Amino acid sequence: MSGKLDVAGKGASTIVAHDDAYPFGAVVPPIFQSSLFTFADYDELAARFRGEGRHPIYSRVDNPTAAEFERKLAALEGAEAARGFASGMGAISTVILGLCQSGDRVVCVRHVYPDSYRLMRRLLPRFGIAVEFVEGGDPVAVARALPGARLLYLESPSSWVFGTQELPRLAALARSHGVVTVIDNSWASPIFQRPLEHGIDLVLHSASKYLGGHSDVVAGVVAGSRELITALDETAFPYLGAKLSPLDAWLLVRGLRTLPLRMRRHHESGLAIADRLAGHPAIVRVLHPAFSNEPGRATLGGWSGLFAIEPAESVNIRAFCNALRMFKLGVSWGGHESLAFPAEVGLQQAGGINSMRDFGVSARLVRLHIGLEEVEDLWADLQQALAASATEKGR
Ligand SMILES: *Cc1c(COP(=O)(O)O)cnc(C)c1O
Repeated sequence: MSGKLDVAGKGASTIVAHDDAYPFGAVVPPIFQSSLFTFADYDELAARFRGEGRHPIYSRVDNPTAAEFERKLAALEGAEAARGFASGMGAISTVILGLCQSGDRVVCVRHVYPDSYRLMRRLLPRFGIAVEFVEGGDPVAVARALPGARLLYLESPSSWVFGTQELPRLAALARSHGVVTVIDNSWASPIFQRPLEHGIDLVLHSASKYLGGHSDVVAGVVAGSRELITALDETAFPYLGAKLSPLDAWLLVRGLRTLPLRMRRHHESGLAIADRLAGHPAIVRVLHPAFSNEPGRATLGGWSGLFAIEPAESVNIRAFCNALRMFKLGVSWGGHESLAFPAEVGLQQAGGINSMRDFGVSARLVRLHIGLEEVEDLWADLQQALAASATEKGR
């Protein structure tokens, strides 16, 4: 197991903490809680509508507080431009619908985020867009699927099983076939993985997770070249209307201030807990990139706090969940709080299409998010819950 920690971009801490002067020398940006922005006279208005200057017009498209978050996120990812969204799914749907049209095919890795999967299975066929799911850890399988595709959709590490993909290799392959590459980088954050440096075209996040970091905002973001962001602006972004709100943008700028510090802590605490669980007699498996030897790990500069465990058959998972005191039961992750979520519940989710079922996620897995609490308190909680849920012969 590797303890590597290589906080990307030594400048990241400066990007999030340092700002040029805001009005009146404020050290925090104002919240421009205004739907529209007015113009001094006819000529200024007309010039802006002809495309001159950058004066904001309307907050569904451009808001100065949202722009402040977009500027910082673009700098963290090493991108020319970024767009903020009302949710991660807003970012994902805008990218796919903005870049693809009827007759196109998306190549997508298995074990993507469950609602990304449902979007691809439910919505894309209605627009005549086909999707092919491939094993992302197998470059030969990806290469076979690429000819004729429009988009390669990656998520590394992936949901539930935390499988990784070789970003430089897949980016080069896709480029040779004229396929645009997109990655969901929510797990690593730009602190631990900067996909654009490895040739990926667009990087997106659920900002509801680590970027916000305090479980008080639902938001998303896409970053990449000015050319691709402009393509999204011209095809989908203003019309799908999932723009980041000024107040949420302000919360994200505040959350970003501590992103490098929080990620370091998630890395250290997550690794410490994963390591101890791997040595615990009641745990069969820990699904965490630190415990794999996949080549796709090479672009990760550290580990975040999200991974899965497989308790032994002797552990009753319902009893284990009910015995947890520090860990709360719930979806999402990336905030200050530690969370547990049992796969057997996710597998039973109502509504038909289910990525966990289709990709064969084991019902015995429990996903853990290691938050910012004391490691020893979290470890004591897991130990007592495992002891309390051990049965003579399982369930
Ligand atoms: C939560 C999540 C999303 C969706 O983001 P929302 O902000 O909930 O819309 C996408 N990808 C991953 C990996 C996620 O965890």
